[in-house]
Amino acid sequence: LEKVPSDIEISLAQTPKPVATLAQELGIRPDELESYGKYKAKVELDILARLAHRKDGKYIVISGITPTPLGEGKSTTTIGLAQALGAHLGRPAFACVRQPSQGPTFGIKGGAAGGGYSQVIPMDEFNLHLTGDIHAVTAANNLLAAALDARMFHEATQSDKALYSRLVPAKKGKREFAALMFKRLKKLGIDKTNPDDLTPEEINRFARLDVDPETITWNRVIDVNDRHLRKITVGQNPTEQGHSRVTGFDISVASECMAVLALTTSLEDMRERLGAMVVATSKRGEPITADDLGVGGALAVLMKDAIKPNLMQTLEGTPVFVHAGPFANIAHGNSSILADRVALKLAGTEEGDAPERVGYVLTEGGFGADMGMEKFCNIKCRMSGLKPDATVIVATTRALKMHGGGPDVTPGKPLHDTYTKQDLVTLKEGTKNLAKHIQNARKFGVKVIVAINQFASDTPAELELVRQEALAAGADAAVVSNHWAKGGAGAKPLAEAVIATCEGESNFKFLYDLEQPIEKKIEIISREIYGADGIELSELAQKQVETYTRQGYSNLPICMAKTQYSFSHDPKLKGVPTGFTVPIRAVRLSAGAGFLYPILGDMQTMPGLGTRPGFWEVGLDPETGRVVGLF
Ligand code: ADP
Repeated sequence: LEKVPSDIEISLAQTPKPVATLAQELGIRPDELESYGKYKAKVELDILARLAHRKDGKYIVISGITPTPLGEGKSTTTIGLAQALGAHLGRPAFACVRQPSQGPTFGIKGGAAGGGYSQVIPMDEFNLHLTGDIHAVTAANNLLAAALDARMFHEATQSDKALYSRLVPAKKGKREFAALMFKRLKKLGIDKTNPDDLTPEEINRFARLDVDPETITWNRVIDVNDRHLRKITVGQNPTEQGHSRVTGFDISVASECMAVLALTTSLEDMRERLGAMVVATSKRGEPITADDLGVGGALAVLMKDAIKPNLMQTLEGTPVFVHAGPFANIAHGNSSILADRVALKLAGTEEGDAPERVGYVLTEGGFGADMGMEKFCNIKCRMSGLKPDATVIVATTRALKMHGGGPDVTPGKPLHDTYTKQDLVTLKEGTKNLAKHIQNARKFGVKVIVAINQFASDTPAELELVRQEALAAGADAAVVSNHWAKGGAGAKPLAEAVIATCEGESNFKFLYDLEQPIEKKIEIISREIYGADGIELSELAQKQVETYTRQGYSNLPICMAKTQYSFSHDPKLKGVPTGFTVPIRAVRLSAGAGFLYPILGDMQTMPGLGTRPGFWEVGLDPETGRVVGLF
């Protein structure tokens, strides 16, 4: 067997083409491109209006079996498939992926640029900073957190009258704030435009916001796996005059600002969503939003460049959009609607074009299909109005063997023989996990293609067994793909299967209706997708469901925060668990992003670092100054 060099070695060995050249090949005009260095650029949203007349390209969501520590290769397959379609079959083909968070990059997983000969390059720029979008999300999130604490602080130190007159728009002449203030007054049922007509009670309700500190749901964020920030006390300096409270940090990609970035459809829509984010409830039971705090406009300003999708390229010079990065376990796990839309237009056809001109957009839904794909269908597609033509479910023999009862892996120790030698019995048992994901995908009415991501140690009999089991479970196609070792050429059979399967119309449908009660929607996902017997809400969750229903938020879609390692809420239950009831610990609201998210079991919204962090290998080569050790 030929040895495949490390991911960063492969990435550095290839010189990318200038991003302006790439853009020109794709038909992006120079005035629609905003370069960030040589190999990355943002694409202006105006392009959507220019290409509005085009019929969209084919839309494919890439998902996987239930993840294991052995890695399944969804990103690698997304990139390999794009390379095969674009560089080997001559089809316009766009990969749309998430921007990686620094947490996993320096933690246990490493980067997310793909791997082997199927990567986004330059992979160090892709994995770190990119064009600063995650930094913008962090800045916006934390400005809102500071605005809330400051508002609660000042309300006790100044007379309401004085605070109110500082906020009076006529005197300050700040248009954005004036508009927000009157909107809030209207919401409170205070319908007076002349501030002098307000009663003291009305001023009090407006100026103090009446925040119930117990109900604050807005945390600060940072893009580091920093477990010690999970629970902190703020306001301990004497200058804060006793305004101390317990709060916490989440990882930046779990911020609602990130979810907004991923789900927004235009600049105006983003402004609306950021303003509508709810941070707490007032003592009278009303939701308190970013706009109530007067900060919605500033949040939109902080994120006005982040909204533009980032263009990069694969090792074989085909286009990749990298945009937004919500995790798939604690958030909705999909890259942005806007990147997909731009890609679908660029891959689209004009009237009179031959049908074979149609291009393909491959968008990745994180973790297993029970997470990323379910949320792609029920949340992302509902908001975008786009319909997928097919889903690709990625599986490996090694991961399936773990679902079939193979032993756990210990980092740093050699893999058990089951994973490196032929073991058809364990593998066959494990294919049940794949079968359940295939059957789940069918419930959304989409075509299913199984990509068997080949590892060097896989035997022909093992690969054929997975193929047969996938077809028996209802997959439209099941193809072995060797893109990790061979690049796009290795994924040609997979690409041909995608083209063949995407002919004809999709019968896409949602799993639940938005009008159903919150509890019912959670139950449908738990029963239909996870295979649970039912759900059980904690007292807190029950109360939250009642509050959100009363506040008028019950018709939002559901974003389950669940472990990615099992169909169930228990990461230890591999394969296809049955006979379990899903515990709903809490239900939170993301009013701006537009979903409710139940927290299942012990999900953490701030990861920690392990005993063997990825950053140990990372450094700069003293001779070349290049990054080493990223994987
Ligand atoms: P996912 O997107 O499912 O998390 P990735 O595509 O990021 O998985 O792959 C995880 C890791 O496994 C990467 O380091 C990648 O290089 C490696 N990998 C993926 N496919 C293969 C393969 N066929 N052979 C060897 N290593 C692979």
